[in-house]
Amino acid sequence: MEKIRAGIIGATGMVGQNYVRLLRDHPWFRISYLAASPRSAGKTYTEATAGRWQMEEEIPAEARNLIVGDANDVEASRKNCDFVFSSVEMDKELVRELENKYAAAGLPVVSNNSANRHTPDVPMLIPEINPDHTSLFETQRKNHGWDKGLIVVKPNCSLQSYITPVYALIQAGYPISQMILTTMQAVSGAGYPGVASLDMIDNVVPFIGGEEEKSEREPQKILGKIENGQVVYDQSMKISAHCNRVPVIDGHTACVSIGFGSKKPSIDEIKAIWREFKGVPQELDLPFAPRQPIIYREEKDRPQPRKDRDADKAMAVSVGRLRECHVFDYRFVGLSHNTVRGAAGGGILNAELLKAKGFIG
Ligand code: NAP
Repeated sequence: MEKIRAGIIGATGMVGQNYVRLLRDHPWFRISYLAASPRSAGKTYTEATAGRWQMEEEIPAEARNLIVGDANDVEASRKNCDFVFSSVEMDKELVRELENKYAAAGLPVVSNNSANRHTPDVPMLIPEINPDHTSLFETQRKNHGWDKGLIVVKPNCSLQSYITPVYALIQAGYPISQMILTTMQAVSGAGYPGVASLDMIDNVVPFIGGEEEKSEREPQKILGKIENGQVVYDQSMKISAHCNRVPVIDGHTACVSIGFGSKKPSIDEIKAIWREFKGVPQELDLPFAPRQPIIYREEKDRPQPRKDRDADKAMAVSVGRLRECHVFDYRFVGLSHNTVRGAAGGGILNAELLKAKGFIG
């Protein structure tokens, strides 16, 4: 099978570097084009990332000598790609404008940026939870007059540490009415160079701009139902979020307390629901799908970022410490890899779902 040509817009950043690393040897996609800001344009990818390549392995051979384009030059992408991953960091209004231009040029855009997350006709996808939201593409294409172009986004990286375990319980017939979560988020979540070392070493920063609002609002769209070509946000669960930056390189952890409505499962039932949970990516056997999306750890001191962030290609959510809560019903700890499951790996899984459904390629 001829591989589908993938471009990465924002290829030099923290998320972009992860795309370059993770797409090596992908069975369906090959990197055909890399783009970043005008500062990087015209350089080879090796030159553009010199001194700031943050991955443990070397730059893959297929990317090393590619000449980086200007992400604002949509025509160059159109010539070289069948679709693009978008991981640029710019003013939100400019990102929205840019992503629209790409889609208008006939390119599907798989975005990591928050700019389009609440655009009514743009699905915010976690393929294990709301794969049916791809039906919004019909409305999107009708609204804009696009034929092959489309925009899909993934949610904020911290959500992945708890939203799938929470959804698994709701789907099993146990609606959750309230949730309090406290995140401990890795520094890679702030991009490169990110938070200054003097703010981070020996410290915890109890503020991440916009993150608590995202943690409280994005689940409502993901868990929402499609009615008349748009998502009706699900507001049945009250959420209160505390988001903290901690001196961990990769891996966002969340301590979560949940309260159920009229029906409450037992601890054993919850563990069984998590263990058995599977979604469309597992049914379709998508290349980046974790075999078991939720891994429950029985050890009393797990999950931990260093030990658990790479579980199943760094695409699984690790959960542990499920116990009773004296205020709500239960408490647990969730953990996921923020730049893989929460960013580039999540984007690749979205693209795989789109390919499987015939929207890409
Ligand atoms: P980053 O490390 O700061 O990288 C930003 C990228 O955007 C670089 O490639 C940069 O190119 C490019 N860029 C900056 N200004 C530009 C411009 N004017 N025109 C075109 N390209 C421009 O950021 P990141 O952490 O990779 O995050 C990228 C996006 O993903 C953000 O929207 C972020 O919110 C989102 N996200 C990040 C994470 C995470 O864990 N880090 C998780 C989920 C989502 P140059 O190198 O040439 O400047």
